[in-house]
Amino acid sequence: MLELLLRRPRELHLEKMQPPAPLNPDEVRIRTILGGICGGDLRGFEGKFAITYPHRMGHEMLGTVIECGEEVQLRPGQRIVVQPNTYCETCEFCKAGKRNLCVNKKTYGGTLPGGFAEEFVIPAKYVFPVPDEVPDERAVLVEPMSVVVHALKKVTIEPGKKVAVIGCGSEGTLASALAAFHGAEVAAIDINQSETKKQLISTIRGNVQFYHPEDEVLQRERFDVVIEAAGVPASAEQAFQIVKPGGDVVLIGIFEECTLPVRHIVRNEITIHGSIIYDLPDDYEDAFRYLKDESFVLPTVKLVPLEQFEQAFAAGLSGNYCKVLLDFRAEGR
Ligand SMILES: [Zn+2]
Ligand SMILES: [Zn+2]
Repeated sequence: MLELLLRRPRELHLEKMQPPAPLNPDEVRIRTILGGICGGDLRGFEGKFAITYPHRMGHEMLGTVIECGEEVQLRPGQRIVVQPNTYCETCEFCKAGKRNLCVNKKTYGGTLPGGFAEEFVIPAKYVFPVPDEVPDERAVLVEPMSVVVHALKKVTIEPGKKVAVIGCGSEGTLASALAAFHGAEVAAIDINQSETKKQLISTIRGNVQFYHPEDEVLQRERFDVVIEAAGVPASAEQAFQIVKPGGDVVLIGIFEECTLPVRHIVRNEITIHGSIIYDLPDDYEDAFRYLKDESFVLPTVKLVPLEQFEQAFAAGLSGNYCKVLLDFRAEGR
């Protein structure tokens, strides 16, 4: 059994795993099918935040149950996805049903070892069965898709609405696709204007225009909803410039600080929403509803066999794909 370990920034190694330990009663052992590389994994790979090395990434995981602890209700052979954020069930926010705000939250693949391994073990409460009709390549997107589903529930997205999405990484591309699916007129905005990126955005169905942040169209166009998914101060600052009076800015990118034009926000009654991960199980269920629906066309994903992990991370860093997936299936290698 192999696992992918980050030993130092930009130093990934495929290594033999320790022999499996017996399961705790509440745990399941999973054989990995696919794992999505997230923006967070890419920042970790580049050494952009503090990590204890060696670190095993991977929180967007699809796999098959191969062994269950004695208290677990799942059956071997079942396909599952991981919900990688832990919750304590005892804090004020967990008790109020807001597990996404749990004060004791940890993340598999972040503060806890992740799933980039041929097998991994996780408490059964953090896995979700996958509906049979959802193919592997779509099912593995449920976690990033749920982030977008949760964010878009904070605003009204419908035909006639103008929506701008700043930053077209995985979340931004999925947000553009979902807003367009709901009939909005979408401006997808990104500094990467490569042919491959243009090609990616063109795979989104619906009314979508693709702009550079400095495009002169954005000097005059104003939007009912602006979604910041780049996670950089300049993008958040642009969000307040291009939102209509009475409009909404939804922040899903994560960074420390930016300058807020308070007079402009107050005078124009602009509403700011922070949005973090998702409510469970509702947002996963809703995300699966879209992933089940073939009329919801996903932007391009790229599958890379596990052994070619270096190419996979390079493809992720290029920003040219909606999602790069590591393929752990033996037949894929
Ligand atoms: Zn992610
Ligand atoms: Zn809690």
